[in-house]
Amino acid sequence: MTTDPETPEDGKPRFTKSHGRIAVRPSRKPTALIQDRPDLAGAWRAKVITLFPNSFPGVLGESLTGRALQDGLWALEPIDLRIFGRGKHRDVDDTPAGGGAGMVLRADVVGDALSFAQRDVSENRKKWPIVYLSPRGKRFDQKMAQRFSQAEGITLLCGRFEGVDQRVLDAFEVEEVSLGDFVLTGGEIAAQALIDATVRLIPRVLGNAESAEEESFSHGLLEHPQYTRPTDWQGRKIPDILLSGHHAKIAEWRTEQSKDLTQKRRPDLWRAYLDDTDPVEDQEL
Ligand code: SAH
Repeated sequence: MTTDPETPEDGKPRFTKSHGRIAVRPSRKPTALIQDRPDLAGAWRAKVITLFPNSFPGVLGESLTGRALQDGLWALEPIDLRIFGRGKHRDVDDTPAGGGAGMVLRADVVGDALSFAQRDVSENRKKWPIVYLSPRGKRFDQKMAQRFSQAEGITLLCGRFEGVDQRVLDAFEVEEVSLGDFVLTGGEIAAQALIDATVRLIPRVLGNAESAEEESFSHGLLEHPQYTRPTDWQGRKIPDILLSGHHAKIAEWRTEQSKDLTQKRRPDLWRAYLDDTDPVEDQEL
């Protein structure tokens, strides 16, 4: 049987259309020549292997990430795992070897999907990581988002049921990444969270470039509290200092607030911050 997605058995195309402007590139129509489009060749790309391709772009199609997708600052290619399924019913899973509850995604099916995803990208995992979203993985954090945003793109494998056959994870040198210490039904929500956090670090995706730099985690501290109008809400006032117009004092107040919050809420981050901070530099804050 064939697993070549270009020639499915019934001849019907099964690929979900790619999202974002980069999707127009393979078209033979000369639109690229007659329209003023940015060169998308270097745009960051996310390929997502999933049994639920219709759940993409999902929330990523909204707001800043959605606009950036439209503008070709990044591109999304959902890959339907079902296409690579075996037999008449295109089965993708089977019972776990050794017994036990649930089903496991087959190594051959996932392997074909991964080979397909990697067909036109770098073999160098630093340039193009392959990630399996998994509760057993390394905990996702801002540093990892930064690393992924500096790659050319990423391939994400969304698990379902009990997970994926170990052999395919080993063979493709797949990195396992977890969203946190809880169990989701599938990898799709985790993949969207990972993409969201990564895409917003790509230059020009956030309207104001500074906002990514001042956020929680960017300096190892949680963000200070934020306020906006009305200045008096139900008797609760915005702290006077923020209305003083004294920028140096405001910055100092915010740093103090950040430190207080981090110390109280996240002693782990606070310890890491103290270890990382050069004492001379700290005095200048
Ligand atoms: N049996 C597995 C859980 C499977 S949950 C175990 O105990 O480790 C089904 C799928 O949801 C997983 O394959 C994974 O892709 C996704 N998933 C569940 N929890 C996740 C988490 N915390 N982070 C990332 N992906 C998760």
